[in-house]
Amino acid sequence: MHKRCPCGDVMLMKLRTVIYSGKVEIDNVPIYSCQSCNRSEVFPEVKPDLTGLIGKLGNRPEKQTYLFNEWNEWADLLVEAYHDRKLSDPDALKRRTEERIDMLLALYAIAQSAGDNAWMADLHKRLIQLSRT
Ligand SMILES: [Zn+2]
Repeated sequence: MHKRCPCGDVMLMKLRTVIYSGKVEIDNVPIYSCQSCNRSEVFPEVKPDLTGLIGKLGNRPEKQTYLFNEWNEWADLLVEAYHDRKLSDPDALKRRTEERIDMLLALYAIAQSAGDNAWMADLHKRLIQLSRT
């Protein structure tokens, strides 16, 4: 869970709070951060959901706090793994991702048989987020 920084050092994965417009706190955003030059980058896999969330907030948002992991399945898995201190183990994360996909597919079958279109759409969105990684 790291990448090379332009300065030559290694960027590590961290969960950070992003402040938008000085008012909105978005917690648990996965970013890469470099200890040498302090450069940081939002994880490419979660960027579409972060920009989507910011787009929804508009130009003059109210003071509020979001948990980004409630918006993005992958961030949610990272938060779980982070709390278990298993982030350094890529196999554990991969296993969790697979388990989560299985669970979502099982729920999707239930939503489908219940004819719940809104639920199906929500589950579909979550599955797409996980398949991006
Ligand atoms: Zn750097």
